[in-house]
Amino acid sequence: MPTLEAEAIAVQYGRIEAVRNASFRVAEGEVVALVGSNGAGKTTSLKSVMGIQPLARGSLNWGGEDIAALPPASRVERGIALSPEGRRLFARMSVLENLQVGAHTVRSAAVRRRTLDQVYALFPRVAERRGQLAGSLSGGEQQMVAIGRALMAQPKLLMLDEPSLGIAPKIVAEIAAAIQRLNRDAGISILLVEQNARLALKLSHRAYVFEQGAVVRTGTGEALLADPAVQKAYLGI
Ligand code: ATP
Repeated sequence: MPTLEAEAIAVQYGRIEAVRNASFRVAEGEVVALVGSNGAGKTTSLKSVMGIQPLARGSLNWGGEDIAALPPASRVERGIALSPEGRRLFARMSVLENLQVGAHTVRSAAVRRRTLDQVYALFPRVAERRGQLAGSLSGGEQQMVAIGRALMAQPKLLMLDEPSLGIAPKIVAEIAAAIQRLNRDAGISILLVEQNARLALKLSHRAYVFEQGAVVRTGTGEALLADPAVQKAYLGI
């Protein structure tokens, strides 16, 4: 399993520097979280790893290869997938069709079928609703489809942007359990962006705290949960 290393990366939108000099790393089999307030640069960091936003500076290395200049599809082929913020499903397509979109880089039909069965086993609700229009599903079910779509690419690194946003607590627990299963049972590394810092830190082996585009703290999820500055700023304690 490859390791992701983002080294001193910077990402700009015009003259705004949304990420500045941030370094983070996801090793084989790790769950790593990026936490911090709105606008701190977490989503932009995931986009830069995916290749949706170019780097202004810094380097991105995946399994020993410099991937900074590769287009998103080539990164997907190398095992990186993103479930984006806001889910971005095709509302007027069926659940199954949405899942199939995620598999377009997988050439073997047998592998696509097997992966689909794995997604259905992970999320039985998605299997039940496979023929329905994605737009008719609840927010939580749509989130499961969005994660399933990313899984259809057979990632080694799965990036999840705000998987709990706007979702009922019971479903958040189901999604959290699925993330843990993907990591423990399937050995998939996870890079998680999550506004619910408590949940993110509980789920993750390590985390990075972002403020104004920079990493200001890092440590194990456990250590950050116990850190008074983190508690005060992000955990409402
Ligand atoms: P959120 O949880 O709100 O998504 P975030 O930590 O993920 O927050 P980003 O979405 O990465 O933060 O945003 C970082 C900064 O970049 C913010 O100041 C934001 O306003 C700005 N920004 C994000 N997307 C764009 C864009 N497409 N064009 C211009 N500025 C942007």
